[in-house]
Amino acid sequence: MPATEPTDHDAWVARDTAVVWHGFTQMSCFAENAPVMVERAEGRELIDVDGRRYLDAISSLWVTTLGHRIPELDEALRAQLDKVAHSTLLGNGNTAAVELAEALVGRLPVDDARLLYASDGAAAVEQSLKIAFQHWANLGVTGRDTYLALGGAYHGDTVGSLSVGAGGFGTDLFDPLRFPVVRTPGYDDPAWADAAVAAIDAHAERLAAVVLEPLVQGAAGMQVTTPEAVRRVVEAAQAAGVLVITDEVATGFGRTGTLFASEQCGIRPDLMVIGKGITGGYLPLSATVAAGPVHRSFLGPDLSERTFYHGHSYSGNALACAVALRHLALVDEWDVLANVRARAEQLGERLAADIAPHAAVADVRRRGLMTGVELAPPADGLRWGRRVCAATVARGVLLRPLGDVVVLMPPLTTTADEIDRIVDTLAAALDEVSS
Ligand SMILES: *Cc1c(COP(=O)(O)O)cnc(C)c1O
Repeated sequence: MPATEPTDHDAWVARDTAVVWHGFTQMSCFAENAPVMVERAEGRELIDVDGRRYLDAISSLWVTTLGHRIPELDEALRAQLDKVAHSTLLGNGNTAAVELAEALVGRLPVDDARLLYASDGAAAVEQSLKIAFQHWANLGVTGRDTYLALGGAYHGDTVGSLSVGAGGFGTDLFDPLRFPVVRTPGYDDPAWADAAVAAIDAHAERLAAVVLEPLVQGAAGMQVTTPEAVRRVVEAAQAAGVLVITDEVATGFGRTGTLFASEQCGIRPDLMVIGKGITGGYLPLSATVAAGPVHRSFLGPDLSERTFYHGHSYSGNALACAVALRHLALVDEWDVLANVRARAEQLGERLAADIAPHAAVADVRRRGLMTGVELAPPADGLRWGRRVCAATVARGVLLRPLGDVVVLMPPLTTTADEIDRIVDTLAAALDEVSS
């Protein structure tokens, strides 16, 4: 093909920029930043419009668990299509939503759980904040109208979830829209738990809830903490009568080596938020999980003010629930968590041997298969994160950075060879960018 003739890739990028607006993306530079234009996938590889293959080492932004085009999940989706695609959960039910909730409640670290479905993580966080607020109103308790949230926190992009989030990513512009919260340091501060416990003691009467991402603050650049620290803060909050909301949108469904990170921490949150991996990365689905006492405070006469007047059009979508139900079963049938633990150990060894000592690397942080490699650029503004990831993409490994932190988040079924390929490719990219 003559060099002047546009490739399929260029043609698709042109069509894309003419009509699509990508999130967290400067569209004036979209084409120059060599976007991968995916047409299809096989297993853990994405295939672009020119037939090039990329190992999906970010699990399609942290949602894909088993891989793409899993025959069992495809089949579950087709089978549900022969029943019904969607029906509303407002005042009515559907069997797929019931079956998924039944399968999940026994696995969730929440007592006497009820699931309020939504479609995105942010919407489920939003629900949890409103539920916590109304819970106190239902009980006739006044003054609990703020939240304790952590530095570095990310809970999504709606205005409420943005408010409990710590900012950054260019979202500081929205500060005037954010409601104020009690903010204590994030996991990058070794004393974060002391500060959180002190703030809980100081503000206990004002707090509707404490919100945190157990074990890993993902979007903060994979900042990690210990199970003991999380448990200490959760116990302090619950002892002070403050609700605890755990956001497991990123950590849930196996990423850290257990089905939920809360299990490792030994905590039982009052509200829990799940999303991302819930359908294995197939369809948008999320849920707010409420413990029995929280749910019960909402019970009252029909049409009374105790009702939770909130809901989304696609809440409990039957196709998504059917896929999520089959996905949960496959995690067990395939012993996926054993693979996560084995591959995570291998990844840890390879990172310690070949990445952490690299002069271009400042820090390596990891829990299970959630990994952040923080780069050490010699000056500001060099965009090393972006350039290192571009160099791995050119070598067929799809990565996307958070600033100067390279995120590694391989699917949970990743193989030993793939872990080696990811680390080898990252090492080569580090050499290229830092030379
Ligand atoms: C991704 C993420 C969210 C937001 O989920 P969306 O589905 O993108 O709205 C919330 N919390 C955490 C911890 C996340 O990683």
